[in-house]
Amino acid sequence: SQPAPVRMIPTGDATAMLPTPTTKPITVIATEAIRETFDDVCLQQAINSMQAPGVTDVILNPDAHLGYGAPVGCVMVSPTHVYPGPVGVDIKCSMSLLQLDLPAEAIDDRKTRRALISAICQRTPTGAGKGQRNVSKARPVNRTLGKQLVVEGASESVCEQLGIPPQWAEYCEDAFHVGHDETQAALETRLSDLLEQRHMSNFSDKMSQLGSYGGGNHFGECEVVSVDDSDRAREVADVFGLRDNNVAFLSHCGSRGFGHNLASGQFKSLQAKFKRWGIPLPGGDRELVYAPLGTEEANDYLDDMALGANFATVNHLMINALVLEAFQEVIPGTTGRLVYFISHNIAKKEIVDNAPAWVHRKGATRAYPAGHHALRETPFADTGHPILLPGNPRDGSAVMVADAGAAKSRYSVNHGAGRVLGRRQAKRTLDQSTIDSELDQHDILSNCRQYPMDEAPAAYKDFEEVLRSVKKAELASEVARLKARFVIKD
Ligand code: 5GP
Ligand code: MN
Ligand code: MN
Repeated sequence: SQPAPVRMIPTGDATAMLPTPTTKPITVIATEAIRETFDDVCLQQAINSMQAPGVTDVILNPDAHLGYGAPVGCVMVSPTHVYPGPVGVDIKCSMSLLQLDLPAEAIDDRKTRRALISAICQRTPTGAGKGQRNVSKARPVNRTLGKQLVVEGASESVCEQLGIPPQWAEYCEDAFHVGHDETQAALETRLSDLLEQRHMSNFSDKMSQLGSYGGGNHFGECEVVSVDDSDRAREVADVFGLRDNNVAFLSHCGSRGFGHNLASGQFKSLQAKFKRWGIPLPGGDRELVYAPLGTEEANDYLDDMALGANFATVNHLMINALVLEAFQEVIPGTTGRLVYFISHNIAKKEIVDNAPAWVHRKGATRAYPAGHHALRETPFADTGHPILLPGNPRDGSAVMVADAGAAKSRYSVNHGAGRVLGRRQAKRTLDQSTIDSELDQHDILSNCRQYPMDEAPAAYKDFEEVLRSVKKAELASEVARLKARFVIKD
């Protein structure tokens, strides 16, 4: 028999609730048009997540679509359990934005942009398994430095050894992550245990991927910044260090092979234990395995997640340092600074309803508004931190800032436009020459001879409508738009 269709009940212009068999409905952030993009399987995944042990809250964001276990584009809160599925295989997949002191006109010329593409690709290659080439001031990452950086994250010593400006660490959502007991020592212990296990014998190879994008959905994109025309946006943009009508560079990647190794190791080991002990899987879904806090399983997972997250952090900073170096090679004298680095695949211990809980953001971005206690000692205490939202190269991307209304989404927003076509579906239904000529008409260059069809703008939801959902639900406001000038993809 067919499961009953899942129905959302509107609670506002851009909010709805999705009833669940538990006492608590799911909060949905979406206009009516966006609600139509959620298929039944995605909504069922959200319901399964809400019914999973220890889960107190699930939020579905406008970019939500089918994921592993939980939808991509959701927030899942638990005071008692950790869920590796809703963090995913790319631990701490993130966005970062580098603002360059370079007027837009400096890259009007296609030849300059071609030279930039090649200088960037030389330093930060794309492609699965590929690592950064040592053509730059960056030193090769030996085993000792690898061990240091996955334990310390973007510490001063790590940054110094890699040629990363150490002050950039301040412009990270988190510059480093600690272990399950909130010490670095736990990570050292866990790492040496892992290195003794056979599946980590390729540690040095994984470390040599530092400073690279990887394949698939990851990208680097050269942008022109356009600050929103309101007094508040201009003030916030100043604090963010955004420069109107200047060039910026947006990066999307995560923890590469190292994070993937850690995450898939955790899935395998937890799934085997669920099977051996006969524990029922939430919604029958093996991607929703979990560990109760305080158990050895939870401790190991939290340590592995932190190790992967530290790699992702240093990876992004390294990429930004290499991208800046590439700009300086092509356009001597260019300076730049990191605007922000923010994750969309991580679980973090936060205060929810006055008590600590693990907030799992699966394809979701943290959104703390001005005055939030956790921003007190950061440069963004009085504004809220930058929220970096990729859309698609044709329609642009956005920088937003959270509003007080973000409390209703557990201080989270979406992480992009979100897929509307699966990869296979995109390859089957879209037309290669249309995609390529469309980007050409928008004067957007790319390193790819043929733009990957499963990454085409039409494979993603209408970005305007996604942003409308976020704004109407009063989660965040626009600070600036980013218009793509070239994109680097696998
Ligand atoms: P993820 O792959 O991490 O789930 O999604 C990241 C988001 O990035 C997608 O939802 C999509 O909106 C956006 N995106 C994907 N490819 C590109 C690109 O080439 N350029 C820009 N600006 N955004 C992209
Ligand atoms: Mn990723
Ligand atoms: Mn991602």
